[in-house]
Parts: sequence; structure tokens; C-alpha cells
Amino acid sequence: MNYHDLGDWKDFFFGEDLNSVESLHDLYFLDLTLALAAKGEGQVKPNPLVGAIVVKNGIIVGQGFHRYEGVKHAEVLALEEAGHLAIGATVYVNLEPCCHRGGGKRTPPCCDALMAAQVKRVVCCTTDPNPRVNGRGLAALREAGIAVTVGPRTSAARILNSEYIRSVITSNASPDLSLMQILF
Ligand SMILES: [Zn+2]
Repeated sequence: MNYHDLGDWKDFFFGEDLNSVESLHDLYFLDLTLALAAKGEGQVKPNPLVGAIVVKNGIIVGQGFHRYEGVKHAEVLALEEAGHLAIGATVYVNLEPCCHRGGGKRTPPCCDALMAAQVKRVVCCTTDPNPRVNGRGLAALREAGIAVTVGPRTSAARILNSEYIRSVITSNASPDLSLMQILF
């Protein structure tokens, strides 16, 4: 059975929008990104697991994942591998690119690197709940004229980094910590 035969039920089965070729590409490359991110398992704590892929004309021209000891973030590693091919490319990443510096952070913002590389589009699975990022990264990219898509694979990305997300949310929750601990 082809998923086209499923009509309105396909969203129920797949939980994702599979209506366009672009969204199918997004799904495919975000799955690869999530698998890449998982390679950092056991190395990145307390940082999140992040993988990034640079795609130009349907071809992967750069990839990277976050290794704590490597210091450089996944996006930067992927952009370095892509070199000038990153111009006009789409970057897939499982977590919102960071946009802050200082406060013990050892790397420059990935948003700056994405802008400098002149990428055309960024597709990320989910925003980063860290209050210093939390949508600011995506806003900065949009302001720079980069098209930004959030999702699909939001749930999978949150499950992959559930430990990180839980620690960020509970440590920043002021009104009712006990409630947050129940929820997460
Ligand atoms: Zn970063």
C-alpha cells in the first residue's frame, strides 16, 4: 500500500506531513540528523546531542555531530566540511542552533556561522528550551533572511534529548518545581 492511498489517515499513521516532496526530503534528512546526533551519546553530557547535515541540491555536502571534547558544535563541523558548497544550501539540525556566547560557553554562536556561510534554509526538529536560546536562534536566522522550518520529527528529537530538556526546564522553573518534576 502506498501512503498516498491513506488519504486523511496518513497523518494519523505517520504523525507527519507527507504532502510535499520537500517535506519528504525534510523527513529523510532529519532522520539522518537524529541518527548522527545519537553518535555523541555518552560524550556530550551535560550538553544536548546534536547532529547537523548540509544538503545542496539533494546531496549531503557536509555533516557533523557534537562531541563534548571536540568543543565545536555540530553545525560548525558540518559547515566546515561543506566549505563554499554551503552557500545556498539547506542545513538540517535536530535542535535549534545556539545564538549566545559567554557564561561559561566555550564556542561562538552557531547562528553566526550559519549566516556567515550564507545558507538558504535551516530545518530543525525542535527549539532549545535553554532560556538563553528558546526561539532566539530561529528569530536571528529569520532576521538574516534565512528560511526556517521547525519539524517534522519534533517528538523524536525531544525524546533523544529528554534528559537535557528535563534538566533545563526543571532548573529554570520557578513557580512550581514539583509540578515540573511530575511532568518531566
Ligand atoms: Zn551551537
